[in-house]
Amino acid sequence: MSTFVLVLGTHNAKKRRELELLLSPYNVLLKSLADLPDSIEVEETGTTFEENATLKAVEQAKHLGQWVLGEDSGLSVEALDGAPGVYSARFSGPDATDQTNNALLLEKLQGVPLEKRTAWYTCHMTLSDPDGNVHVQCQQRCYGRILLEQHGSGGFGYDPMFEIPEYHQTFGQLGDAVKSALSHRARANREFVPQLLKIINQRR
Ligand code: IMP
Repeated sequence: MSTFVLVLGTHNAKKRRELELLLSPYNVLLKSLADLPDSIEVEETGTTFEENATLKAVEQAKHLGQWVLGEDSGLSVEALDGAPGVYSARFSGPDATDQTNNALLLEKLQGVPLEKRTAWYTCHMTLSDPDGNVHVQCQQRCYGRILLEQHGSGGFGYDPMFEIPEYHQTFGQLGDAVKSALSHRARANREFVPQLLKIINQRR
């Protein structure tokens, strides 16, 4: 049985590891852009998670001549009409860091009471074949709320402020094991894997 090679359109080692664990029983070789020095940097010019994930999948797939899974994710806050959304990484400007983004988010939510601080992470995944044809689109969310201050130092990005209400703790406090069960990305991965396996089986 031949190995199916899938390129994950990111350099992020943690994202790769999460998907790798789900794919480990199957004959899939998962690579990330960190393994492919000739990969390109795809500009995220879309205005939705779906558009950006699709750009990252299709452009990279055509360039590399490989199957590519593009992923785009971000945080949306109800009281801010869904911001920062697709601009989550650069919320506080081109030189944004997690610290400056978190500080700006707290500033924008000043005076908003806890019960009105509902927020959700979204993860969109798009699978493209080597010719740029899209075979899978999936999107999942993880709901929580933005606390009045940061708690914990785990995770990344907005995690120290993002509380899962059922647990009374933020993703910054809950640790990787819980996050990799509950997160938007974990849910999208679990939606994606059976669809990938179907495609692989049809090709054999
Ligand atoms: P990307 O799609 O992985 O590049 O993520 C875009 C941005 O969304 C990140 O830079 C973070 O600001 C935010 N983000 C996405 N997923 C997460 C998460 O799991 N925790 C915290 N922040 C996240």
